[in-house]
Parts: sequence; C-alpha cells; structure tokens
Amino acid sequence: MSTLNWPESIARKAIVDFKAYSARGGATDALHLDANESPWTPPPVTGADAYNRYPEQQPEGLRTRLAALYGTAPDTLMIGRGADEAIEVLLRTFCEAGEDKVLVCPPTFGYYANCASIQGAGIVEAPLDADYSYNEERIRTAMTEAGAALKIVFLCSPNNPTGNVIDPKIVTSLCADFPQTLIVIDEAYEEFSDQPSFTNDMGIYPNLIVLRTLSKAYSLAGVRGGVAIADPRIIALMLKVLPPYPIARPVETAILNALSPAAMPVHKARLALWKSERERMATALAQSAFVKTVFPSQANFLLLDVNNREELLRELAKSNVKIRHYPIGLRISIGAPEENNIALAAFGITPPSGKQMRIGEAHRKTKETDISVRVNLDDASTIAIRTGNGFYDHMLEALAKHGGFGLVLSCDGDTHIDAHHTIEDCALALGTALKEALGNKAGIGRFGFTMAMDETQARVAIDLSGRAAMTFKGIFPTDHAGEFPAEMCPHFFESLSQTLGAAIQIEVEGENTHHMIEACFKGLARALRPAFKREGDEIPSTKGVI
Ligand SMILES: *Cc1c(COP(=O)(O)O)cnc(C)c1O
Repeated sequence: MSTLNWPESIARKAIVDFKAYSARGGATDALHLDANESPWTPPPVTGADAYNRYPEQQPEGLRTRLAALYGTAPDTLMIGRGADEAIEVLLRTFCEAGEDKVLVCPPTFGYYANCASIQGAGIVEAPLDADYSYNEERIRTAMTEAGAALKIVFLCSPNNPTGNVIDPKIVTSLCADFPQTLIVIDEAYEEFSDQPSFTNDMGIYPNLIVLRTLSKAYSLAGVRGGVAIADPRIIALMLKVLPPYPIARPVETAILNALSPAAMPVHKARLALWKSERERMATALAQSAFVKTVFPSQANFLLLDVNNREELLRELAKSNVKIRHYPIGLRISIGAPEENNIALAAFGITPPSGKQMRIGEAHRKTKETDISVRVNLDDASTIAIRTGNGFYDHMLEALAKHGGFGLVLSCDGDTHIDAHHTIEDCALALGTALKEALGNKAGIGRFGFTMAMDETQARVAIDLSGRAAMTFKGIFPTDHAGEFPAEMCPHFFESLSQTLGAAIQIEVEGENTHHMIEACFKGLARALRPAFKREGDEIPSTKGVI
C-alpha cells in the first residue's frame, strides 16, 4: 500500500520522486546572463517580442486569459501544444509501462490508445452501444475488473467521430464511485454543443480532468494550443513531465490576439453560423442517395453511414473534397456555406438556389485600437456593438438597423485619450468588412437618400464605385454630441469611404448637433439599404466591374 497522498499515490513513482527540470523562462528587466541566450533579437523582430529569450514555461498572460475563457483558476491549467499534448502528458505522468492501464470507449478519438501504446500502458475497451451512446454498466464492469492498475478513463464528449454527448450523470457518478481513478473528459468540441462544460463540476470531483482545445472553435489548429484543466495537485505532477517551453512566443501572441475581447463576439457569430450550417447539412445530406443515416451531432462534423461507399468516394475525389474515412462510416466536417455546397453537390444534392449570404469580417489591431467587425448583408438579425463610446454605439446601431444589415463590432480603443482613434479605426474596419461582404457586387445598386429628422435634413448620396471620395457640407452648432466630437462625423464618413471604396456625398442642415449627426448616419444607412440589396446578377456598371 502506498503511503503517498492522492494523486501522488497513482502517479508513476519516477515522476513523484523527481524534481522538475527547472530553467528560467520569460524576460524580466534583469540582466539575463543565465540561459545562454542571444542578447540580440533575430532580424527583423523588434525588441518587444523578445524572441531571443526563452518563453515562460506556462506564460502567465496566456494562463490568465485561458483561465478566464474556461471560467476556472490559472493554477488548474496546463497549457500545451494542443489537447493532444495534454493526453500524452497524462499517460507519461500516470501510467507505468507494462503495468498500468487506460480505458477507452471505441469508436472514439484514436490518439488515447495511440499514446497508451507508446507509453506501454494497457488498453481496456468499453465500446459504445450500437447507437453510439456510452454504456455505463460496461464501463463500470471494465473498471472494476481492471482494478487499481486502471489509471485513466478517457471519455470524449461530444465524441469524435460519432458527434454525440455523454449523459452527465455517467460522468459524475463514475467520478464519485472511482475516486482514485482519473476521469478525463475530452471536450475538444464543447463550443459546438448545447451541453454545459464539465469544468462546472471540477470543484466537486478532484479526479475529473477536462481537456479543451483552441484548434476547433477558435480557428487556431495551425498554432497548436490546448489545455488540461484539473485539480492543481494533478497539474503540478503533469508540469513535471511537460517538456520545457512548450508555448513559443509567437504562439502566445497569436492566441492572445485571436482571443482578444474584441474578437469574442465574432467567434460567437461564427459558432452560430457553424451550428446552423450543421443543421442545414444534416437535413440536406439525409436526402442523398449515398446516405443511409446522418447521426445527430453536437460537434462541427457529421458522421454518415453510407451506401455505395466506393462510388461516393470517387465523386468526392472528382470535386477534390476530402473527408475522413472510418470503418463505421464517413465523417464530414462542417465548412463555410459555400464549401458545404460544393460537398453537397458531390453527394448528388443540388445546393439551394438561394444566394450565398454575403458576410465580411475585418480585424484591426494597433497600439491605439483592437477591433473586430463582422457584417452580414443578408441577415440583419444580429446587431451587437461595443465601442466604448455610447453615442457612437448608437450611431453604428442606427447605421446597421436602417441599412438592413447585421453588424457585430467590438472595439477596445484608447478612449481615455479621446474618441478619435476609436471612431476612425472602427470606420476603416467597417468599410473593409462591408467591401469584403459585397464581393463582386453582383446585383447591387447605387443610391441616395434624403433624411428628415425634426428640424434637420440630411441628404446622402453614395456610389459603391470602388473609388474613395467624400464631400461633406454642414456646420454643427456645438462641438460635441454626448462624448462624440462633431468634427469626427465627417471624419467617420471619410474613413469609411476609403476602405469601402465608395463615393459618399453628404449635406446636412439643422439646429441640433445630435440630430444632425444621427441624420447623417441614418441617411447613409437608407442609401446603403437599396445599394446592398441584390436583385439579379447584373453588375451595375457599363464596364462590367466596379
Ligand atoms: C482535434 C481533437 C483533439 C486535439 O486537439 P489539439 O488541441 O489540436 O491537439 C483532441 N481530442 C479530440 C477528440 C479531437 O477531435
């Protein structure tokens, strides 16, 4: 009987006994002559990036950000090169070669068994039921039979490749009844599911470990970032095994940029589209002669049981569409709408005749502002704006609402200085996103609008010509409306016209600055509304392009 406390009692003896390799990481203001680094940054990198210095073992800023993202405490996180590395480190921390075992529930993610084999751990299987649900009795029986040698149970929810989630009661009762054993829930696809994360149960069950990844929902597969979330005692053991400096400095920067508060509403909008595309694909694929069954999925893929597999694979190859093959069926990832339509065609499903939604995004980060914008010219249902300037929020909201387009815009700007950079940079980013959404401008118009508002009249003419030009006639009676400087009103339209590639002409008369600015925004919105509207495919220019 081991005299050690849990979880040391179940860890490999060699890991418990050894002192973690320790070396300084991170750049402080000390004179660092302690790590044989270069005193010079590599060209062309500037000093602030400190590429010449080793990174911290667990970069503090990143740990804090990821803890906030996952609603947990920093000391419950081990950040690694993807969730894959967390799986590997778990095996190497807890499974003695030739003695210990892990349990998996196939069909499931293959890397658990892979890592177990490399580490020399035994693999116990408790297969899923025929409908791919987890079979609690089978898991319990296998766990009991394996006894103390069973160190880790890998459960994947939503499961890859079947897409279903586990009943939370199975997880919590296994945690309670097998307190010595590590119950690992791999939540690589949690963001796509309706089930709450098991991180909510972590305080209750010290043997519960949650894996999360930035590769799927946050679009960072190429960057490599994922975490194990666990009791700090488990994390401390795992950090002894994690190789030195797993998070390269540019990786930390890339992750922090992608997860900046300004970017989060865009991730949310993308997830909503992703889920609606999953439902659209499930319905459409069920109509394909190749498809016997579409399994319900809470992930960003669908598992298909198919007929004429070889012929289907030939069709997919002809269209250069790659999907994943398994003995139990084919797994297709949910892509962007236009990508999904290409895949549908290979399945013999004519894509819907309706046009693609015109969506544009722009992300802009400087020392002065951090901005993410997403516009949808064909779905006005989502308008969510946060610039830190109440009046400006109100104006942008009016622009989207009266322009008839969806707008998600977040900005963290240096408003403690003044509103200038925020207003200007948001306008530039908005113009860029709108221009991207317009695409080849097939079917759009070129318009103008006269806007009456109490004593004020604004006349706005626009031409989405591809060429920037702005004229503004109007004199404001006061220099501010709320926290919005009146001089920034023409400047907004100037900046927008630059990146949108539009001629914008505005004349405004009135006696109230608030009304005058608002009339300009609404007038532009009303002019844009028909200009954004698609009727037919004709490009409204004698040149054939604009
Ligand atoms: C993709 C995937 C992972 C790996 O994620 P990374 O963070 O990219 O290593 C882990 N588990 C499952 C179930 C996955 O599908």
